[in-house]
Amino acid sequence: MHAAAPSLSVVVPCYNEELVLDALHDRLARVCDALAVDHELVFINDGSKDATWTKMTALAARDPNMVCVNLSRNHGHQLALTAGLSVCQGDQILIIDADLQDPPEALPEMLALMARERADVVYGQRASRQGETFFKRATAYLFYRALGWLADAPIPQDTGDFRLMTRRVLDQFLSMPERHRFVRGMVSWLGYKQVPYLYERHPRAAGETHYTIRKMVRFAGDAVTGFSVKPLALPLRVGGLCGAAAVVTTALAGWWWVAHGEIPSVGLLAALVLLLAGGQFLTLGVIGEYLGRMYTEVRGRPLYVIEQVVRGQEAATLPVG
Ligand code: UDP
Ligand code: MG
Repeated sequence: MHAAAPSLSVVVPCYNEELVLDALHDRLARVCDALAVDHELVFINDGSKDATWTKMTALAARDPNMVCVNLSRNHGHQLALTAGLSVCQGDQILIIDADLQDPPEALPEMLALMARERADVVYGQRASRQGETFFKRATAYLFYRALGWLADAPIPQDTGDFRLMTRRVLDQFLSMPERHRFVRGMVSWLGYKQVPYLYERHPRAAGETHYTIRKMVRFAGDAVTGFSVKPLALPLRVGGLCGAAAVVTTALAGWWWVAHGEIPSVGLLAALVLLLAGGQFLTLGVIGEYLGRMYTEVRGRPLYVIEQVVRGQEAATLPVG
């Protein structure tokens, strides 16, 4: 155990990563040792079916900076990550994937960037993704674009969970009680100064992705429902369109009646159907509006996040710029 809290924590969720753990630990330890700061490496075993836990604890037996967290079963990437974040004790926290797609060697530069920009979050933004299938790249591309359009808070594009953050951001993050956790969105939502760090995303060091199509769909669902209530407003728009179409159809039928002296039954029928459909959609939209509000209440996020309060003379001591 550490006597005092370490200044740096590295948090790594691991699911069936026995093949990469040694290389990962090796590279992380080298980078952290070179930084010469008090650090901890928090590895979370997310119910792996292979020897991940055994390997992890073997590493810990040799490295006093290791902290191993064993989850009772597979809880999924985002929850494993949250578990690790709640255990870690550092003042600065790096989140990194186990598979070495994100380079540990970027850490010194990210720390420097954080200090230089006085930022609270430095998020890794992928300048390129090597060694990933066309399908993965295409779905990722579309996902980030769609999310950008839907989301209520800005969520940076092509950004994973690879990021460095300060303790005050992490504490706020941990105070968000929602159960469906889309970590990168939640951190963006919190605000503070967040700056991108551009990097090349490498191919997996070994093993294969654990994101099955099902997990990807659930992940995208958590992202969209967690950060947007726009889909709930869809029926209102459709209802509005139906109503407008009903008005046009009625007008056309009226004009036909005047011009030809007979009531066009098809036109009247169409107007009636559109009117009924429009009414139903509008009702759904109203229900959706209430549901959206209930959802926001139930989610129980903080109303706002105060970064700083400055009283009178304290302002004179603030850093300039
Ligand atoms: N992961 C996890 N639990 C899971 C799936 C994945 O802890 O149920 C971890 C995995 O070990 C890796 C990170 O989450 O460190 C990202 O997963 P992966 O590399 O499979 O996803 P991809 O990079 O293909 O999106
Ligand atoms: Mg990966």
